[in-house]
Amino acid sequence: MDRAGIVISHRITIGISACCMGSPVRYNSKGWDMLAGIGRERNDFKWCPVCPECMAGLGVPRDPIHLTGGDGSMVWRDEAEVKNRHGRLVTDDVKFGAQSCLETLKRAGADAFVYMDGSPSCGVYRTTLKSTKRGHPPGIFGSLLLDQGFFLIPAADLQSPLKWWDWRRRFLAFHWLKNLEITGKSGLYDAWTSLKFLFQELDNAWAVQMGRSLAGMAGKPEPAFIAGFKAQALDILRRPSTVRRITNSLWKNYSFFRKRLGKSVEGINTPDFQRNITTIAKELVTMERKALEDGVLFGTSPVIYREKRRLPSMEGPVETERQQDPPSVLS
Ligand code: SF4
Repeated sequence: MDRAGIVISHRITIGISACCMGSPVRYNSKGWDMLAGIGRERNDFKWCPVCPECMAGLGVPRDPIHLTGGDGSMVWRDEAEVKNRHGRLVTDDVKFGAQSCLETLKRAGADAFVYMDGSPSCGVYRTTLKSTKRGHPPGIFGSLLLDQGFFLIPAADLQSPLKWWDWRRRFLAFHWLKNLEITGKSGLYDAWTSLKFLFQELDNAWAVQMGRSLAGMAGKPEPAFIAGFKAQALDILRRPSTVRRITNSLWKNYSFFRKRLGKSVEGINTPDFQRNITTIAKELVTMERKALEDGVLFGTSPVIYREKRRLPSMEGPVETERQQDPPSVLS
C-alpha cells in the first residue's frame, strides 16, 4: 500500500487540563507536568492548556467544588448543581468557565483533550479522588467534551509508554479519518483499507460485518451509510486496546513484514513471550520505524505523523514504579 496517503504532516493541536501541563491552577495552587511522561514527543504537538475553574473566575487558591444532585451532564440540564466547600452555589460560574474553555479549544482547532480525571470539572470517568469512589462522572467540562465528540485521553496514561503508544496511534487514525472527506465508493474503500487492521484489533465483530457490507455494496453508497461508517469507526478508535491484542497485532504485522520482504527485525518477540510494557512499547516503535523505512504498511499503527524523523524515540518516556507491572487491559 502507498503510505503517502496516510501521512499527517501538519502539527496537531491537543487541548489539555492546564494543571496537567504544570500550571499551578488547582484549588490548592498545585499542578503537575504530566507531559514529561512522553519525553520529546511533547514537541510534536501544539498544546492548548485550559482550566474551566479558572475561567469561571474562582481564582487560585480557591475552595474545592463538588457536584451535588447528579453528574456534569445533569448540570447542563439544570438537574444538578455545583457548590464549593462552604455550600456556596457556583453552578453558573463553572458553566461559563467550561463554555469559555470549549470555545478556546475550538478556536485552536483541537479535536482531542488530555484530561485530569477525578476533577468535578475536567473528569470523565471520576469526579473525585477520594478512595475508590467515582463521584458523579462525567464532570461539567468532561460532559461538554463528550457531547462534542472530542477524543479524550486520560493524563495518567501519559506516564505509561505502552498506553501512550496506544492512545497516540488511535488518535492519529481518529484525526485523519475525522478530517477526511469521503464522497464515494472509492473514498470509502480507501478509508476502510487504510484502517481495517486497526479496526480488526479493536472490534473484530464490527470489522467483519463492515467488511461484508462493503464487499457486497452495489452502486454508490448513500450519504447516510458513509456518515454511519465514519461515526462508528471514530467511536471504535476512541476505545483503548489491550496488551494481548496489541502483542498479537504486532506479531501478525511482523509476520507479514518477514514474508513480504524476507528479512527479520531484531528484538520483536512472540505474543506469549513474557516482557514488561516498556519492552513491548520499544518493539512497537522499532516495528513502526522498520515498516516505514521499507515502505510496508504497519497495519496496527497505520497513520504516520510528521514524517520519518518524527517517529517517536524511546529515549523520552521514563518508566515509573507504577508501570512495572504490566496491566492486562489498557483501559
Ligand atoms: S478545573 Fe481542570 S484544569 Fe483546572 S485545576 Fe481542575 S482539573 Fe485542572
